[in-house]
Amino acid sequence: MVPEASLEISRRQFLTAAGLTVAAVCFPRYLAAQAGGLVETAFKEAAKAKVTVQNLRRNVSVLLGAGGNIAVLTGPDGKLLVDSEIITARPNVSKALASINADPIKQLINTHWHFDHTGGNEWVHEAGASILAHENTRKHLSQATRVEGNWQYTFPAAPAGAIPSTVFKDEHTLHVNNTTLMLKHYSPAHTDSDISVYFPEADILHAGDTFWNRDYPFIDYGTGGSIDGQIRAAEANIARVTDKTIVIPGHGAVGGKADLILFRDVLVEIRGKVAALKQQGKSLPEVVAAKPGARYDAVWGNLFQNPSDFVALVYQGV
Ligand SMILES: [Zn+2]
Repeated sequence: MVPEASLEISRRQFLTAAGLTVAAVCFPRYLAAQAGGLVETAFKEAAKAKVTVQNLRRNVSVLLGAGGNIAVLTGPDGKLLVDSEIITARPNVSKALASINADPIKQLINTHWHFDHTGGNEWVHEAGASILAHENTRKHLSQATRVEGNWQYTFPAAPAGAIPSTVFKDEHTLHVNNTTLMLKHYSPAHTDSDISVYFPEADILHAGDTFWNRDYPFIDYGTGGSIDGQIRAAEANIARVTDKTIVIPGHGAVGGKADLILFRDVLVEIRGKVAALKQQGKSLPEVVAAKPGARYDAVWGNLFQNPSDFVALVYQGV
């Protein structure tokens, strides 16, 4: 595995995309533009960002682009995808999938409800896939849902074809392409809809947004997320992998157990510092100014969450 190298590539690509002015990006009508903000920027970046294919082990590979990482399982039953990226990434995701083989997409699993993991649901469904997710993913996609923090965006109810047709509550196991997939719900972490997808034969875990590899995570308090839940999920991920397990994060390069441990340690350290300062009566601006993540900010704070946005998310939950 080459987490450092591919991380640098993906970060550079992202920053290049972020610096571009996009003259015209066509959005579906149901996603009427809402002024400014991270979500609008993400739509534009995803339309430009390259999507690369990384082969992992056995019949599992991963697509790395501007939105959530997509796991791809291939075989006689057709392609199975874990997550569907940002809607504007469709042309580049399609191209990447076609570069693997010409097989149709037959199944889609969502790791949680966010737009950068479910944005392609409708077109993937139209291409022939049935959609499986946690019951709270269906709930949040079925109605208008507001996200606060630095998103400040109200997502309208998704179109019917984008809604998962099969949902589960705690655990679900399926067999596709001569491969076992073990799906497991996390107690509320990044949202209340997070699941992991584990491929036991290949020993690959897709942890969705319970794991960000060297990037500060967004935490969606509005749909059940919290810093403490995010830390609990990080602990759960560490407990279930070995040094040989390949771990796909929601964002960032593919990693392993050492990267999960680093992620947990960074969250715990910053949470501890923020909580101590808040207990001393410090205001949010004062805590931000104290730079509790100073050791990590240069690397961890330049993708979706800058250091002050992340400190605000931690401050809210301690
Ligand atoms: Zn997310």
